[in-house]
Amino acid sequence: MKWSLSLGRISGIEVFVHWTFLILIAWILFSHLSMGHGWEQSLVGVVFILVLFACVLLHELGHALTGKRYGITTKNIMLLPIGGVANMEKMPEKPIQELWVALAGPAVNLVIAIVLFFVLRQAGDMPSLLDVDGHMSSSSFLYNLFLVNILLAVFNLIPAFPMDGGRVLRALLAMKFDRAKATEIAARTGQFLAIGFVFLGLISNVWLVFIGLFVFLGAGAESNYEATRSVLSKYKVSDALMKKYTLLSADDPIERAVEHLLNGQEKEFLIALNNGLMGFVTRDEIIRGLSELGKSAPLGNIARQDFPALSPEMGLDKAHEMMAKLGISFSPVFMEGELAGVLDTENISEVIMVNKAVTRS
Ligand SMILES: [Zn+2]
Repeated sequence: MKWSLSLGRISGIEVFVHWTFLILIAWILFSHLSMGHGWEQSLVGVVFILVLFACVLLHELGHALTGKRYGITTKNIMLLPIGGVANMEKMPEKPIQELWVALAGPAVNLVIAIVLFFVLRQAGDMPSLLDVDGHMSSSSFLYNLFLVNILLAVFNLIPAFPMDGGRVLRALLAMKFDRAKATEIAARTGQFLAIGFVFLGLISNVWLVFIGLFVFLGAGAESNYEATRSVLSKYKVSDALMKKYTLLSADDPIERAVEHLLNGQEKEFLIALNNGLMGFVTRDEIIRGLSELGKSAPLGNIARQDFPALSPEMGLDKAHEMMAKLGISFSPVFMEGELAGVLDTENISEVIMVNKAVTRS
C-alpha cells in the first residue's frame, strides 16, 4: 500500500493508516494550541481523535468479520482522515447477507454508545459537551465519544450509497426486485436525498453541501458498477473469447516479446513450457523485466503463473470478478484441459459497449 503505514493484522486483515492522517493530527494540535489551550488539553484533543478512529476501525471490522462469515475476504482496512474503508473483495449477493454485512458497522458504534451510556450513568453525570472554556474534562471526553458514536451510526445509516444505509436499502429492495433494479432504485433514492442535502446545506451548513456531493457521486458509481455486472451476467466467456494470440517459449529472451510488442497490437503473450502452458506476460511484466533483468533473460523468469481457471461456458461476470480478484487484465481460457483462447479486460469492455449500443437502438 503506497503512502500508508501498516498497523498490523487483525484476524488476517491488514490495517493501514494513510499518511495524510498526520495532517489531521497536526491540524487538531494546532487548532487547540491556537485557541490558547495548554499542551495537556491539546494532547487530550489528539487522544480523542485517536480513540475516535479506533471506533471507526471497529466499525470496519464489524463489516469485515461479518463478511468473513459468508466467505468474503477483506484484503485490508484503510484509515483515512475522512474515515475508514474496508477493502472487501465484493459484497455478498444474497440480500439477507448483504443486509447483515451492511448493518454490522453501524451496529458496532451503537454497541459502543450503549456501553458508554452505562459507564457515564454509573459515574452519575451526563455532563455538557464541553465546559465553559471549551475544555474537555475526563467525563466530557467519554460523553463526546458517546455522542460521536451515535453520530457515526446515524450518518452511516443514511439510505444512500456509498453509505451503509444505501446497502441496507438495496438489500431490502433486492428481496422483492432483482439486484440491478434494486440498485437502481436505491441509487435514485440516494441521489434524491443528496440533492436535498445540497439545498439544505446552502441555506444552513456548508458541510451538508459536501456530504450531498459525496453521496451523489457515490450513488452514481454504485449504479454503474451494478449495471456493468448485470450486463456481463447475460454473456458467457465464449462471447468475449479471442482465438488469436501469440505463444512464446519460456526459453525465449525478453527481447523476443519486446519485438512482438512493438510490431503489433498485442500487449499480452502466452508463455509455453514443455508443450504445456506456463503462464503469460503483459506489457507491464515485459517492461519491468527489461529494466530489472535485461533483454536476454528468459521469459520464463518473468511470466505470471497465477491465472484463474476460466472456461468458455462460464458467465462473463464471474470471469471478470475472478480476474479482478487476482488483479490481472488477461487470462488464458481452457476447455477440457486444452487452450481455447484468451480473455482480456479490454474485450470485456467492448462487450459492454456493444451491448449498450444495441439496447439503445
Ligand atoms: Zn460502514
